[in-house]
Amino acid sequence: MFQKKELITRKRKAKLPLFFPVYQPKSNLVSIDDIKEHFSIDGMIVNGFFLYKDAETKRLLLEEKTLHEYIGFDGIIMTDSGAFQGLKRPLFLNNKKIVKFQDAIGADIVSPLDHISPPGENRTTAGKKLKSTNKRIREAKKLIENGMLAGVQQGGKFRELRNESTTFLMELGVEYIAIGSLVPFFNKNHNLAFVSKIITDARNIIGNEIPMHIYGAGDPVELPFFVAMGADIFDSSSYGHYALGGWYMTKYGALKLERSTLIRDYNCSCKICVGEKDELLQKVSDPKNLAFHNLYTILHIINQIRAALEAEKLYQMLQDIINVHQKWFPDSQLESSWVDSFEKGGMPDTKP
Ligand SMILES: [Zn+2]
Repeated sequence: MFQKKELITRKRKAKLPLFFPVYQPKSNLVSIDDIKEHFSIDGMIVNGFFLYKDAETKRLLLEEKTLHEYIGFDGIIMTDSGAFQGLKRPLFLNNKKIVKFQDAIGADIVSPLDHISPPGENRTTAGKKLKSTNKRIREAKKLIENGMLAGVQQGGKFRELRNESTTFLMELGVEYIAIGSLVPFFNKNHNLAFVSKIITDARNIIGNEIPMHIYGAGDPVELPFFVAMGADIFDSSSYGHYALGGWYMTKYGALKLERSTLIRDYNCSCKICVGEKDELLQKVSDPKNLAFHNLYTILHIINQIRAALEAEKLYQMLQDIINVHQKWFPDSQLESSWVDSFEKGGMPDTKP
C-alpha cells in the first residue's frame, strides 16, 4: 500500500489516516470533556481567525497560555486562517499577521491565508487567485518557526491549475499538502469524478511521503474512497452541521431522521445508540446527542479504514459500502463515478 503510516509534526505525531474535528472552543455541540472521555482523537482543527479577532482571547494566547492549554487538549492542533470566512466578507486581516499568530500560539499545523476558488469561477480569476495564494504561502514559509506549514492547493475547477499549484508547493519544499476549495465538488450526490482526478493527480505529483489533507471532508461514506485515491487527513464540522439539519450519519451514508427503520436497524455502539432501540429516535432528536453520534461514526470509520489498510482489505470495504449505500440511495452516483474513475486508471499504487 502506498499510504504513509504517520503524520509527524515538530512536537507530536499520529497514525494516518486521520480526522480533525472542527472544534469551536465556546460553542461546540460536543464538549471537550466528552471528546476526551469518549473518543481517542489524535488531533483537531480550530479556527485561528476567531481566536485572533477576539481581543481578550488573543491576549490570553499570546501572553498567558499556549493553544493546547487554552483548549485543554494535548494532541495535534491545526489552525486555519479565516480564508473560508474571507469568502463571504472582508476580514481586514493579512497573511503575515495571521500566520505569525498561529505560529506564536503553538499550532502544530499552520494555514496560510489562501484564496478560495468556488466552482463557478473562470480560469482567469482562478489563475490570479492561485498566483496570489502561492505568494502568500512563500511568505508564510519564511515566517514559521515552530509549526508545520500547510501548503494549500488551489486552482478551482481547472485540473491543470491545480497540478501547477501542487508542483509549485513541492518546489517550495512544503512538508504538508492541503487541498483547498474541493468541498463544493463532492456535495453533488456523491459524484467522485472530479475529486478523484484532483486527489490522484496530487498524490502522483507529491509521492508517498507527504501527507495530504482534504479541507472540509467529513461525510463518513466518502472518506474511505478518498483514502483509496491517496488522501490521508480530513477535517470537518459536518458532525455538528448534519446534526443541526437532522441527519444521522452512518458508514453507508447519512439518513434523515424520518428514515427511522433504517436507523433502528443500524448497529452503532456509541453511548447514545446503545440500549433500548425504542428510545433511540427520541435521543437523537436532540442535536447534541446526534452530533455526538455523528462524530463517533466518523472516528469509527477512520479506525476501520486503518484496520482495512493494515489487512490490505480496503477495496473489500469500499465494495461493502457501495452495496448497502446504493440500496439505500438508489439515485446516488457514488458507485458509477467510483467505477468510472477507477477504470480510467491513474489511481495511485493501490490496485488489488
Ligand atoms: Zn451512535
